[in-house]
Amino acid sequence: MTTNTTRLRNLRNIGVIAHVDAGKTTTTERILFYTGENHRIGEVHDGNTRMDFDPQERKRGITINSAAITVHWNGTQINLIDTPGHIDFNIEVNRSLRVLDGAVVVFDGVAGVEPQTETNWRLADKYRVPRIAFVNKLDRTGADFARVVAMMEERLGVAALPLQLPIGAEGDFRGVVDLLRMRALVWDKDDASEPYRVADVPAELLDEARRARARLVEAIVEQDDATLDAWLRGEEVSLEALQACLRKGTLAAAFVPVLAGSAFKNRGVEPLLDAVVDYLPRPGEVNHEDELLNADPDAPFAALAFKVVADDHGAMTFVRVYRGRLARGASVFNASTGRNERISRVYEVHADKHIEKDELVAGDIAGVVGLKDTLTGHTLADKSHPVHLEEISVPDPVIDVA
Ligand code: GDP
Repeated sequence: MTTNTTRLRNLRNIGVIAHVDAGKTTTTERILFYTGENHRIGEVHDGNTRMDFDPQERKRGITINSAAITVHWNGTQINLIDTPGHIDFNIEVNRSLRVLDGAVVVFDGVAGVEPQTETNWRLADKYRVPRIAFVNKLDRTGADFARVVAMMEERLGVAALPLQLPIGAEGDFRGVVDLLRMRALVWDKDDASEPYRVADVPAELLDEARRARARLVEAIVEQDDATLDAWLRGEEVSLEALQACLRKGTLAAAFVPVLAGSAFKNRGVEPLLDAVVDYLPRPGEVNHEDELLNADPDAPFAALAFKVVADDHGAMTFVRVYRGRLARGASVFNASTGRNERISRVYEVHADKHIEKDELVAGDIAGVVGLKDTLTGHTLADKSHPVHLEEISVPDPVIDVA
């Protein structure tokens, strides 16, 4: 396998989408915490970050409201791209959906499918963004996992496939059964230092879990003829084969894997991070037919500027690189203005620090400093191949606001 294939395999550009209040902020904070970006939960809010070698940097207050934040999970780099939740920001939602490859949609375990979820869901359909769903807040009074799954099927018209079943409900919600592995993850305490326990599936849930697993397996083996044949012959299908089928179906938008949880629970977002790596696409994986979108590092450079953020040091332009590469200090053609520009520095943006990089490579999401005339929505390209990435989208959908 080439170095670049390995690099892309270990790269995810994803967004977290939710109706306001469903728990996007909390879920994102927990992701930052469990991937080691923050030492304690909530730290992003008070500016008291672990990095203090540069007070200027600290003042910058890079928070989870940054246009994009990089985290690492089990050897995979995950770039979390901010997607505004509110309907007023539909243009921004459009723009951010264009630069991500996959999304986690957070649902409130009580409210289920809400109007903004529905609107953003349709936009994600439009951009063909593969999704996994996280039904959050299952510890709340009135939360009902099965009802939310049914709502997803009815209101969003998707085949929702639960990968987990909750153990206990509302105040007694204490873990999940992982249906593919048929094991339980149990949170014993609300102490963040206490890891969850991997346990046997509780006896009272065993029959239900077996039935749910059978339905899940039946739905996913169809994605691959060889696996389907083996399954029909009654052979044992390996976890890896099942995961490969699930990935295939998720990327083809044939179904949406659904996780049960609560961002409040110890390490409650870990199975979610695993699912991001296992089932959401790497750059170029889905749009491989389109040579603009296949994440080829040797093709002519093309990147989309999707957000310009001003800070004490000037402007930082967040870009998604679709193909090719560009070294820091290099000159680049802005295809939207028809003028050349120079990029001075390139950064990987973390919750509490910027890490300088030598170059931008296909698939990257990065912060660029030095661009003076580049606005949100502009394409940066190789002058001899001046593509316009803003034109790759299909027309705006008609959105019915209830
Ligand atoms: P956002 O608007 O989607 O970013 O939602 P927030 O993350 O700000 O969460 C909205 C409210 O729900 C806050 O008061 C959170 O503390 C609370 N919340 C988030 N996740 C959970 C959860 O898993 N369980 C419970 N009980 N409350 C939660």
